[in-house]
Amino acid sequence: MLRIILLGPPGAGKGTQASRISEKYNIPHISTGDIFRKNVKEETALGLKVKEYMNKGSLVPDDLTIQLIEDRLSADDCKNGFLLDGFPRTVYQAEQFDKYLSERNLSIDHVLDIDVKKEELLTRLIGRRVCRNCGATYHVINMPPEKEGVCDVCGGELYQRADDTEATVENRIEVYLAQTKPLIDYYEKSGVISHIDGATGLENVFNDIVDVLGA
Ligand code: ADP
Ligand code: ADP
Ligand code: ZN
Repeated sequence: MLRIILLGPPGAGKGTQASRISEKYNIPHISTGDIFRKNVKEETALGLKVKEYMNKGSLVPDDLTIQLIEDRLSADDCKNGFLLDGFPRTVYQAEQFDKYLSERNLSIDHVLDIDVKKEELLTRLIGRRVCRNCGATYHVINMPPEKEGVCDVCGGELYQRADDTEATVENRIEVYLAQTKPLIDYYEKSGVISHIDGATGLENVFNDIVDVLGA
């Protein structure tokens, strides 16, 4: 049983590591960003509400986000743990989430804070490419696919996220510093946080995470 929160700025490698953690520990990878993007793509009522916030690189309102995560966590596959990627992102979300957990006698086992410095984040985000079909993530230089523009996993088309442009990326990093970074202190108090250097290469980062979670 593992309940994990991945914390860190946009581009730190949360999604990349989450896929591997999810596979090794057999817990669902729950990315609020992925769920919001799916809703935008399918033009659902939720998607129409969140699209503008996402394109600007602002946060989606807390109430929508908390509702979404509570619905998702009520699914059967979360009974034996979960891996949250991109939630919580504000102190208010974290407080509401703590209430949700304590009402159910649950608690978080690990908060993994992955850190990378700003210049590297910009390079990573602007070079990020994502598979339209399966969501696998690549980087034009750091992790290129075998064939340009084509997903190694499923053959799907790779695209650049609407919010991975230079102007929006700067704003997302500002939003992270102002609204999400305070969560490091918040979780420091509960003693469940571990700090991971996200700039050491994919394998090393994963090994550091496994050292924290246990093999
Ligand atoms: P996040 O989910 O935190 O926004 P991603 O996992 O999508 O970040 O990674 C952002 C970009 O950086 C992607 O293009 C990814 O391929 C690349 N990347 C991820 N981890 C590393 C790493 N350890 N070293 C170099 N590039 C990385
Ligand atoms: P990244 O990890 O690359 O920064 P995500 O895919 O996690 O990006 O998030 C993309 C966008 O989705 C965010 O910029 C924000 O608009 C929205 N979003 C995702 N998770 C949350 C959240 N917990 N609270 C508010 N907005 C969110
Ligand atoms: Zn794919």
